[in-house]
Amino acid sequence: MPKRLIAGNWKMNGLKAAVSEAETVAKSLSEQSADCDVLICPPATLIAVFEEKLTGTAVQYGGQDCHTNESGAHTGDISAEMLADLGCAFGIVGHSERRTDHGETNDEVKAKAYALTRANVLPIICIGETQSERESGNTLKVLTEQVENSVPTDLDGTKMVVAYEPVWAIGTGLVPELSDIEEAHNHIRATLTNMGIANADEIRLLYGGSVKPGNAGEILTVSNVNGALVGGASLKAADFLGIIRA
Ligand code: 13P
Repeated sequence: MPKRLIAGNWKMNGLKAAVSEAETVAKSLSEQSADCDVLICPPATLIAVFEEKLTGTAVQYGGQDCHTNESGAHTGDISAEMLADLGCAFGIVGHSERRTDHGETNDEVKAKAYALTRANVLPIICIGETQSERESGNTLKVLTEQVENSVPTDLDGTKMVVAYEPVWAIGTGLVPELSDIEEAHNHIRATLTNMGIANADEIRLLYGGSVKPGNAGEILTVSNVNGALVGGASLKAADFLGIIRA
């Protein structure tokens, strides 16, 4: 079984002062270690501060997106190499908010996953169905299509993470039934295996969508759930630690 990964996605939240929350998490882990990897992906503006304050601690940090090119005339974008340069261990790609706000396609998400790999940053590739796709009974079909088209087949399973985030569960307080999470995660694992990915059983599959200290324990016991991708509850150290220690 792959080692559990508890990842925080701060999204577009956090001024410089917020870095103290991450430092509090690191301090707690130095006093009492956790049996999981811990990651925070702050906004790009804070990554250099994370490098300064969190290098050498048990809190790893990463990016929330990247461009596919190494450098060049792409105003406002940052490259995988820039993330690597600041010590990022992971980069999120294909988050539903990027797919919606910026029209990112599966092909682009896959290209970004390759870009991160080129820079030795591990991609966290996000997938998940919308409410209408779920209501029309198409959840597994949508997940198959997203996995087959967003996840590179020639990367080793130990070098990537896949996050299942039902779009309707993000930031809403709604969480699927545990049996639905299990069905989705089993299906994603089977799809990755069928794609012939090496060490597909080692790919960490994260669940994301309204994970809180109060529900993390039961979600993390579901088969093929190897961690969590946490939005709102990763912003405060106390909440995030509650999930890490769940
Ligand atoms: P919430 O935990 O706020 O629902 O966000 C989940 C998410 O989108 C993490 O990437």
